[in-house]
Amino acid sequence: MDAMTYDAKLRARAETLATTCIHGGDGAVPYGATDVPVVLASAFRFDDAETAAAAFQGANDAWIYGRWGNPTVNHLESRLAAVEGAEAVAVTSSGMAAIAGTMLGLFSADDHLLAPVAMYAESARLLRERLPRHRITTTFVHAEDVDQWKASLTPHTRALYIETPANPTLTVTNIAAAVAFAKAHGLLVIADNTFATPFCQTPLELGVDVVLHSATKALSGHGDVVGGVVAGSRALVDRIREYTVKGLGAVMPPLSAFLVERGVRTFALRQEQANRHAARLSAALEKHPGVVRVHHPSRPSHPQHALAAEQMHAFGSMLAFEVAPAGGRDAIGTGRAVLEALRIATHAVSLGDARTLVVHSASTTHSTMPADVRRAAGVADGLLRLSVGLESYASLETDLLTALDAAKVSA
Ligand SMILES: *Cc1c(COP(=O)(O)O)cnc(C)c1O
Repeated sequence: MDAMTYDAKLRARAETLATTCIHGGDGAVPYGATDVPVVLASAFRFDDAETAAAAFQGANDAWIYGRWGNPTVNHLESRLAAVEGAEAVAVTSSGMAAIAGTMLGLFSADDHLLAPVAMYAESARLLRERLPRHRITTTFVHAEDVDQWKASLTPHTRALYIETPANPTLTVTNIAAAVAFAKAHGLLVIADNTFATPFCQTPLELGVDVVLHSATKALSGHGDVVGGVVAGSRALVDRIREYTVKGLGAVMPPLSAFLVERGVRTFALRQEQANRHAARLSAALEKHPGVVRVHHPSRPSHPQHALAAEQMHAFGSMLAFEVAPAGGRDAIGTGRAVLEALRIATHAVSLGDARTLVVHSASTTHSTMPADVRRAAGVADGLLRLSVGLESYASLETDLLTALDAAKVSA
């Protein structure tokens, strides 16, 4: 896809979402306020004894207590349901609360899951180390190898977990194939859609049962809040909400809900620009002689470029690139030298921020993995992960190319 065609596609996607981001799921707002007030009450007054009794029977979705529901938090949930195209959404205290709460809310001892080898490191730890203490076990499979999924099925397998594009390799899983496989074997499909965001990908439309997000990232978009999202059918979301929000108490605070909702208002516009710049930067980096590989679904060199073009509305604002050993340093040393020469891209974890963020995955986010497991998962020693922010294109390109030269990567 040439750059002009892609730009037009991004514009069309932003047009589709922009109004929903500002008005979607709007309900009544008190005081004539244009946007929902931040309601910090931990308990809500009952009009009379009968209303109280009815509220406890679930009448009118009445607000009772802050852990069970809050006007600011529920308003955000309606907005996000509209943006994600979901019947229902529950928000949680963090992305990990959404992920762990979904697993604990839906599965029990002796249940078995399938999950990809390349995934968010803390999610991998949850499945590898923490859930087995509750006798919920996981077999890790290569996301592109359906035969391996099939071979890993047991009579106790309940769900297929996917994360596409994956962190930080941008490996793409075929969502339609995952859904077809799951339907054939009576499994749920759960997708972590944080990297893609609902701008780039809408897995529920493709038949996925539960979509999870870290709202900490592009949905809020300003690096000032931690939160999580569970989206899906009302029946599934209610089950997860009961367990996670009511039961574990992983509630999103009203101030956080306000910050996420404020971020969502500009989500479509922010994503349009970040996606455009990420594709252009990927092309520019691929031309640099010191860059041995660029990982971005927009590049024809990406092994699943065609699949990504088919199942994604846009290729995303996350990219990674690899540098080789140079100037007497190993690949890890070269990667770090590039990192330290960057002036605009900020050296920090997280993603989806207005700032461009960069990390050296092998020595930070993926350092708890044994080196051979990490490399097998595609996280090369010299890999830098970039979350493209909202700075001018020219300043970002100059920053990256100058840093590559300063670190003498092609020497
Ligand atoms: C950040 C992230 C999470 C975890 O979300 P938190 O809000 O940090 O708990 C999960 N999955 C992916 C892909 C992420 O990037």
